[in-house]
Amino acid sequence: MISEQECIFCKIVRGEIPSKKIYEDHDVIAFLDINPANPGHCLVVPKKHSETISDTDDEVLEKAIVVTKKLATVVKEKLNADGVNIVQNNGRHAGQLVSHIHFHIIPRFPDDKVLITYQRVQMDENALNEMQKKLTEEGKKESRSDWDMRF
Ligand code: 5GP
Ligand code: ZN
Repeated sequence: MISEQECIFCKIVRGEIPSKKIYEDHDVIAFLDINPANPGHCLVVPKKHSETISDTDDEVLEKAIVVTKKLATVVKEKLNADGVNIVQNNGRHAGQLVSHIHFHIIPRFPDDKVLITYQRVQMDENALNEMQKKLTEEGKKESRSDWDMRF
């Protein structure tokens, strides 16, 4: 676990390292990705440090997703993009390099070179039923989740 002192996005929030800021309010900032998938690739970052979506307060997430929506719309319109991908990685094996929650906004253009891809696994009816059971099973509330998983 990385400390707020060392965290690169916390340093950007504190103004200790520069960024090409696109948006800022009390809770959220957005800036250009230093190594974009396409020109205009932005990162929306809650100012309060947390690592993954599961660690992040609901109120913080709500603010960040609304900024993500608005900025995605601006990016699409101003860059005349065909569409946008919103990407949010959690954990090293999900491709998270920076351990401070963020949403990617990636503008997309016809014939661009961006790859957002995954192979599919085969699951038969039984396996799908088992998975459904596993994800809806009652009486096994984990410490972190205080909501009702039967949403
Ligand atoms: P992740 O893989 O964690 O979802 O994405 C991290 C993103 O942060 C990457 O796309 C990377 O290019 C970007 N990034 C890493 N360090 C910096 C930085 O110092 N400044 C900016 N603007 N972007 C960064
Ligand atoms: Zn941080």
